[in-house]
Amino acid sequence: MSTTTTPVRFLRELREICGAGRVIDDPARLEQAQVLGVTPAVAVEPASTEEVAAVLSFANAQGLSVVPAGGFTQQQTGNTPQAIDVLLYTTRLTDVEHYDPGDLTIGIGAGWTIAQLSSKVGADGLLFAGDAPLPERATIGGLLATGMTGPLRHGYGGLRDYCIGIKFVTGDGRKGKGGGRVVKNVAGFDMMKLLIGSQGTLAIITGASFKLFPAPRQTSTFVAGFATAAEAIQYRNTVMRSPLSPMCLELVSPQAGALLPGGGRSGKVWSVYLRASGSDAVLARYRSELGTAIALEIDGHDEQEAWRAIEDFSHTLPERYPDSVLISLSLPLADVQPVLDDLESVAASNNLMSAAIGTVGVGRLLAGLWPAGEPANLSAAVSAFRDRLPRDASASVLHCPDKMRSQAAAWEKTPTHSDSMKAVKHALDAKDILNRGRFLF
Ligand SMILES: Cc1cc2nc3c(=O)[nH]c(=O)nc-3n(C[C@H](O)[C@H](O)[C@H](O)COP(=O)(O)OP(=O)(O)OC[C@H]3O[C@@H](n4cnc5c(N)ncnc54)[C@H](O)[C@@H]3O)c2cc1C
Repeated sequence: MSTTTTPVRFLRELREICGAGRVIDDPARLEQAQVLGVTPAVAVEPASTEEVAAVLSFANAQGLSVVPAGGFTQQQTGNTPQAIDVLLYTTRLTDVEHYDPGDLTIGIGAGWTIAQLSSKVGADGLLFAGDAPLPERATIGGLLATGMTGPLRHGYGGLRDYCIGIKFVTGDGRKGKGGGRVVKNVAGFDMMKLLIGSQGTLAIITGASFKLFPAPRQTSTFVAGFATAAEAIQYRNTVMRSPLSPMCLELVSPQAGALLPGGGRSGKVWSVYLRASGSDAVLARYRSELGTAIALEIDGHDEQEAWRAIEDFSHTLPERYPDSVLISLSLPLADVQPVLDDLESVAASNNLMSAAIGTVGVGRLLAGLWPAGEPANLSAAVSAFRDRLPRDASASVLHCPDKMRSQAAAWEKTPTHSDSMKAVKHALDAKDILNRGRFLF
């Protein structure tokens, strides 16, 4: 763990911008930031877009590196920030810019947690479709910066579909907006597209507007069990060709199921969890269409618990198996099954266990590998699995053992063109002060 030292003379300027109590240089209070692998010397807690802009202008002029931080739920692998002169907490960015339950839109500060937002709109019978793990801590800014989505992605689309506006400050301190608060407004769409998934390397997101959805009055989850991944994927295809439009459609491998409540609900099989919403008549239609494939139907508390466990899976697997490597994949639909086959065969030939879980109707998969016993060559197996991924796949490492961190960057796979990324980075953060080292171009 390295420590960055911010010259004391900068503290005075930062205190003038954020207020004396909002500049933290007490090491005990900076402990939380150790997950980043680099301990910052100072953290600031700005309360508005204007304060964020002032901090970034100052940091840019002085050449100080800045790392934005929300709830610290992101697990650190691969390219962690090289240095942190200033850690910028977004947790005080909690204004409500607008909220129109009738229009199904809300505009809020980036420091809201996902649980706070869900609870606020839930009180009016509405749903926010972002379902990240650890929602009590994960912030809206962090969700947008990582660009990931959970099981609700199947029925409600991804962040780029329901984020309708974004407010940000670039690395050189310029304030900007993309999109707006009206669903039809597409002006600035490109900035939203760029910032979602940019890992805080281009700008600090200070607020966002979202399209909301009517919350379902009742839901039920149908669990089907299959002997093989191929049969489970065939079932996915049947559901997707049917007139049914479930909220969620999630594949759970036997080993992944063992980590869910009750050790998996339908035994040591490949399961497909299908969550449906609607009236009694609509749910009855699901029952009759899905027929004998249904091994189990769950609702109420058990259903909530099962989906929460599926959402949290990317944290549960590493907690249970710290020696695991967990990779998030985005795949063309036709490639999901071959990739599952590759995962199993790489595990079998290297004395490893494997688990997979994912929103397979949109080609999202989390794939985990860990030693079944000694000896096991985890690193070579992950490299072999990564090399077999289809050309159009993207892969990011969500967790790996500390000793493999230096290899994790090589396991990542992104179709992004590095020349265009360099040009965007230069236009928004020419001095490379934001999350320096996170992306290596
Ligand atoms: C189903 C699912 C599974 C997931 N699994 C994992 C996982 O296993 N591991 C994992 O790492 N992530 C995972 N994610 C991503 C997850 O969304 C984020 O980790 C989480 O939402 C981040 O929120 P946070 O406030 O904790 O962000 P932090 O952890 O604090 O920050 C995450 C990243 O975003 C940047 N950032 C934070 N706030 C801002 C901002 N306002 N503007 C610009 N940049 C910012 C940070 O610098 C950092 O690079 C998953 C998401 C989903 C939907």
